[in-house]
Amino acid sequence: MVAYNIDIISEKLIDVVIRRAVGFKIRNFKIKASSSAFEQIVLRAIESTSKYLVNKSGMQLYCNICGKGPYTRKGMYLHLLRTHKYEIKNMIKEDLRELELAS
Ligand SMILES: [Zn+2]
Repeated sequence: MVAYNIDIISEKLIDVVIRRAVGFKIRNFKIKASSSAFEQIVLRAIESTSKYLVNKSGMQLYCNICGKGPYTRKGMYLHLLRTHKYEIKNMIKEDLRELELAS
């Protein structure tokens, strides 16, 4: 897979990863991957990146990147999307690269 593809895929996954991190439902998400092996890599990257983003302290949500909070789920979603969009994209890219190299 070329770096160009990883960049495009990461961009498309930002919203999915943030939704997953705050516990929103993910609707109409389909991966158009060239192989089922790569599909698995994408799913694993979504899991590992989304786990890192939010620090859940009881019912309160805090940003794991900058420490701000507490937020509601909606507030957390908007904070991550507005403030950390490109950091999150880079995390997804890193994860995709590592998982692909390990596969
Ligand atoms: Zn933050």
